[in-house]
Amino acid sequence: MDHRLELSRVEEIARGTIELTFHRPEGFAFLAGQNLNLKVPELLFPDPKGPRRTFTIASAPHEPELRFATRLSGSGYKQTLQRLASGSLFEYLGPNGQFVYDPEVESAAYLAGGIGITPFRSMLMHGVHAGFKAPTFLFYGNADPDSSAWHELFAGLAQAEARFTYIPTMTNLAPEAPWPGERRWLSADLAAAYLPDPANTTYFLCGPPAMITALTDQLLEKGIKDNKIRYESLWGY
Ligand SMILES: Cc1cc2nc3c(=O)[nH]c(=O)nc-3n(C[C@H](O)[C@H](O)[C@H](O)COP(=O)(O)OP(=O)(O)OC[C@H]3O[C@@H](n4cnc5c(N)ncnc54)[C@H](O)[C@@H]3O)c2cc1C
Repeated sequence: MDHRLELSRVEEIARGTIELTFHRPEGFAFLAGQNLNLKVPELLFPDPKGPRRTFTIASAPHEPELRFATRLSGSGYKQTLQRLASGSLFEYLGPNGQFVYDPEVESAAYLAGGIGITPFRSMLMHGVHAGFKAPTFLFYGNADPDSSAWHELFAGLAQAEARFTYIPTMTNLAPEAPWPGERRWLSADLAAAYLPDPANTTYFLCGPPAMITALTDQLLEKGIKDNKIRYESLWGY
């Protein structure tokens, strides 16, 4: 099998955040939440870390295209992504990863910090497609609405799916800025304020390593069993 993906488009979907969409090769199989390691065809800007990064597949297995999203940082790799033409061919490794949708959990809380939303887009789209059984809560922390990728998508899903509750929280808004919802940082307390049965919920955490450590400690302190906490650290932020 030729391990290459053909880029179809790059779009800015939130402030400082781009979405990369690729044609999906025939027979390409993965689980909702898994990731790929993507090698750009050629670095157009120098990058001491080289031409590869790992990104979570943000589309669900039933969707016709493969999507990824990333925060721009100024690295040579990311600057290259912004300038690639459609038709560019990326080599890939994977899919890899065990942080995946689980149809067996009684109740699920997804906690996403910023671009840590990517596996949850895949899991939620998959859950809707497969027919959710578990009540599912998405807690999504961002600086402000403009920097929140797929905010409208999740708000729409919450309207349509009785089992899905969406709690976006905006942590860097001016006090006078209009926003009717949460402004607190993601935390075990914030989750407990919304979950009907926090002890019987399985927690899925995704974001930068410091966020994962803090949330895990808080959940354990609240008496949540460690077998109810799953996480993916986005190393590199
Ligand atoms: C399992 C897994 C899944 C992941 N999924 C995703 C995902 O879905 N989306 C995603 O975005 N990331 C994801 N990541 C993280 C991703 O692989 C990168 O590590 C991350 O995007 C940072 O890459 P970078 O090129 O921006 O920074 P790097 O070049 O790796 O540099 C690290 C730090 O230095 C800073 N930096 C680098 N170059 C410059 C410069 N020229 N000027 C100023 N600052 C600079 C960056 O801001 C960053 O904070 C995942 C990682 C793992 C392990």
